[in-house]
Amino acid sequence: MKPEEKINKLREELHRHNYLYYVLDKPEISDYDFDQKLKELQELEEKHPEFYDENSPTLRVGGAVTKSFATVVHENRMYSLDNSYSKEDLENWEKRIEKQVDGEVNFTCELKYDGASISLTYEKGKFKQAVTRGDGIQGDDVTNNVRTIRSVPLRLKGDYPEKFEIRGEIVLPYEGFAQLNAARVEAGEEPYANPRNTASGSLKLQDSAEVAKRPLDCLLFSLSGNLSGIKTQYEGLQKAREWGFKIPEEAKLARNLKEVMDFVNYWDIHRHDLPYETDGVVVKVNSLHQQDELGYTAKAPRWAMAYKFKAEQVSTKLNKISYQVGRTGAITPVANLEPVQLGGTTVKRASLHNADQIEKLDVREGDEVYVEKGGEIIPKIIGVDFTKRDPESDPIEYITQCPECETDLVRNEGEAQHYCPNFNGCPPQIIGRIQHYISRKAMDIEGLGGETVALLVNEGLIGNYADLYELKKEQILPLERMAEKSAENLINGIENSKQIPFERVLFALGIRYVGETVAKKLAKEFKNIDALKKAKKEELENVDEIGERIAESVVEFFADEENVMNVERLKGYGLQLEISAEKLANQTNKLEGQTFVVSGVFEMSRNDLKKLIEDNGGKVSGSISSKTSYVVAGENMGPSKLAKAESLQIPIIDEKKFLGMIG
Ligand SMILES: [Zn+2]
Repeated sequence: MKPEEKINKLREELHRHNYLYYVLDKPEISDYDFDQKLKELQELEEKHPEFYDENSPTLRVGGAVTKSFATVVHENRMYSLDNSYSKEDLENWEKRIEKQVDGEVNFTCELKYDGASISLTYEKGKFKQAVTRGDGIQGDDVTNNVRTIRSVPLRLKGDYPEKFEIRGEIVLPYEGFAQLNAARVEAGEEPYANPRNTASGSLKLQDSAEVAKRPLDCLLFSLSGNLSGIKTQYEGLQKAREWGFKIPEEAKLARNLKEVMDFVNYWDIHRHDLPYETDGVVVKVNSLHQQDELGYTAKAPRWAMAYKFKAEQVSTKLNKISYQVGRTGAITPVANLEPVQLGGTTVKRASLHNADQIEKLDVREGDEVYVEKGGEIIPKIIGVDFTKRDPESDPIEYITQCPECETDLVRNEGEAQHYCPNFNGCPPQIIGRIQHYISRKAMDIEGLGGETVALLVNEGLIGNYADLYELKKEQILPLERMAEKSAENLINGIENSKQIPFERVLFALGIRYVGETVAKKLAKEFKNIDALKKAKKEELENVDEIGERIAESVVEFFADEENVMNVERLKGYGLQLEISAEKLANQTNKLEGQTFVVSGVFEMSRNDLKKLIEDNGGKVSGSISSKTSYVVAGENMGPSKLAKAESLQIPIIDEKKFLGMIG
């Protein structure tokens, strides 16, 4: 067989097995065999780059990096849906429809998945483009990222139209979400709050290889374009399924509103058996002809209606309130509940946030409480069933000492949270701080995870982040689950962190309230750690967007001898504690006091452009207002932004003119 034939044959096979596995969930070959075929194809493609295909199954693993996502105007607007919350709402909707169209009206009922809306374009049976909803009129081109989602077909089969769009939701199944969070917690990072935001955040990651690692799924339910021969929504779903798309099996035809309500009532209970989050039902007029007749309001189609399920609530007994200590020393009260089923999972704990919240709810140990679960992972207590309260019960006395180190807690004026001030002696703070230090957005130390940090601290090998740089391979080898190779990786990872730029080191230090953005600001303003250390509170407050709270926290950090010593040690180990000379040379104050809005596609990447503005003292804002000094417009600037800029008479300049401003 010629290489080209072999490549094509392997691609066909892999597309098919991918479909069987990810769309139908009926694999015919083992994962091992699949990987072998993929490897074989990879090798052939490497040898024969002339047969490159952007939709090759080998490109599912990602690798393409999108620096800035191009804005794309939707060929057909992506409308949102009107919401209904009761049978009466739906009956009123039906009455409006019957006034406008002739003949019998049937409906399709589909589940409303909670994810990130997406529009996929196919041409000649090939995946061409994926665009987010954006504002409905235009969205972001996330093609590279969506290509890595295994249930998105890259090639279609059967009698598909020449060119069409298909829309749906990118979702993150509960199981994948839980795995992702477990890995984050292990790395000392904050867990994601809910699957939906995580799914939409994933689409905007720059590195598609990162997206490929996330177990995203794509559920589709709406066709548009020239769809000759298709007469109803339901038929469209069946056709799209034949072409190879993952069309939810739950969709059903309903002849009347009673059947619609049967569907709603059934899924209100059974949706918890599904692997994804759903928050309602979408009811559509089935006939495409009738849909055309009904048309659209300014916001939504008249032929579709979302029915929202009620947020779920259960009541259960609150057994005990316990207290957790975070890396900043913040104390969080947690309600330990009598286990209860809610939203398809067993709930045992709920957050109580802080002392004020406990007081506001007047919640007590032994109370029967109402627990609600929105999209969040940790459910919340929304009230107490006072009819069931034990008359002998006492109000909660909030703890006054740290549950971990017994230090007296403090609560600063105007703050809701209590803190354990034993910064350098409280175990969860020590561990949490080092976990933060090594996390991806901070020092990104490869080969070192959150659990290992806890182990190193508990074994007495490290007591702060500076100690990491004294670690020897011989010391860590005897640790549990530590092999030669992993020990080496850990040491190398620590060594490599010496190249991380100043602003990220500053973020990694874990100064309270100094997040990524504030760290960048401080790094830029003070240029090196010694200048920052010497800065008085007033000087800090003079920096744009640095308030009293942050300023105090920075001063407090450097007032602590141990912190100063750690920083000095980091300096000694060769970490970047000043802005690099190259970066410094590129900075000016030419744009000071001016605010820029960047819109459209540019020759340089959008991020580079924004960086140039900031490096020259300007501010970047996301939306146009009377405070905007200039709009820097590239190709395909959004029409709504253009209109707004014109109405406010804000000068619009192009890339070249902007570059002229900074010389
Ligand atoms: Zn403590």
